[in-house]
Amino acid sequence: MKLATKIIHAGAEPDPSTGAIMTPIYQTSTYVQTAPGQHKGYEYARSQNPTRKALEDALAIIENGKFGLAFSSGVAATDAVIKLLAPGDEVIAANDMYGGTYRLFSKVFEKFGIKFTYIDTTDVANVANAISPATKLVWIETPTNPLMNITDIEGVAAITKKAGVLLCVDNTFASPYLQNPLDLGADIVMHSATKYLGGHSDVIQGCLMLNDQALRDQLYFIQKSCGAVPGPMDCFLVLRGIKTLHLRMQRHCENGASIAQYLRTHPKVERVYWCGFPDHHNYDIARKQMRDFGGMMSFTLKDDSAEAATKVLSSTKIFSLAESLGGVESLINHPASMTHASIPREERIKNGLSDGLIRLSVGVEDAEDLKDDLAQAIG
Ligand SMILES: *Cc1c(COP(=O)(O)O)cnc(C)c1O
Repeated sequence: MKLATKIIHAGAEPDPSTGAIMTPIYQTSTYVQTAPGQHKGYEYARSQNPTRKALEDALAIIENGKFGLAFSSGVAATDAVIKLLAPGDEVIAANDMYGGTYRLFSKVFEKFGIKFTYIDTTDVANVANAISPATKLVWIETPTNPLMNITDIEGVAAITKKAGVLLCVDNTFASPYLQNPLDLGADIVMHSATKYLGGHSDVIQGCLMLNDQALRDQLYFIQKSCGAVPGPMDCFLVLRGIKTLHLRMQRHCENGASIAQYLRTHPKVERVYWCGFPDHHNYDIARKQMRDFGGMMSFTLKDDSAEAATKVLSSTKIFSLAESLGGVESLINHPASMTHASIPREERIKNGLSDGLIRLSVGVEDAEDLKDDLAQAIG
């Protein structure tokens, strides 16, 4: 079955009690048992909820996985993956990734004795060199946030498989429409469903998709033991968002390409970071592992200062100045002071994330209006 059909029908069984075509919002904390231990597979809503189950089934299907697990946020999903580990274990992570992931690793988990080593994963040889006997997990994000760097998922998976190490890919920026890491050898895919999966900037949620039953059982145990589960209303919203993922993504990609080309020719723009340019460092890998290039990009002005960037950031009228991404509306963001403020400045600059960098989440509005808005803001 092709993606568009899967997206519409994934996990969508008519409700068994009424035939409702949409899975109802089962707003309940518990389920009545006919005799002790006799129930319909549902005991307590932290462990099981039918709305969450419909969503988790859909999530698995759209990522070509066997299992899906939903969490109360993207970072809660990441948190669950790290809880597979024990003190003394090491994680090899990309040095250019979502600021909240870095914060969770460095400020929360390091003190429990888990070691994190940050490397440039755009060259897979670095991954092979970094793996030590203590390494249990490799964590990558591609394309990265906000520099749009591309890592070869298949290349990294070949290394982690050989070393007997788990590979988790944060697929938030690409969405399952553009890229399916499980097909390329990843063990776990993580999404902030807050972004493209939800798609309407109205819910916080995260998820994991995977194929291995034993790993799924461990992660399900963590999900119910630690309790970071999403409520049924939020599950309903993401389930509904997923139904238009392919339509939204098509427009995000069209608009993204159009805006990236426009910015690149703008006399005041120094550099545009977008993985659809043939001269992008890892363009061949992006072409190989992605179906299209999406609506996320960053750029710097010739005057690469926080002041010049701030002027643009406060002048757009259609692009709203806000954190987050992947919704139908276009957003503009200043990574240095907003999404990536938790990364020390020195570390940021070293990784190429300058004070003047501006990130765009190009929405599904009319591309001409978006270009006009950027034109008046850049001046
Ligand atoms: C937003 C985001 C997260 C965190 O997800 P939340 O839903 O905000 O907890 C993780 N990774 C990436 C790439 C993100 O954009």
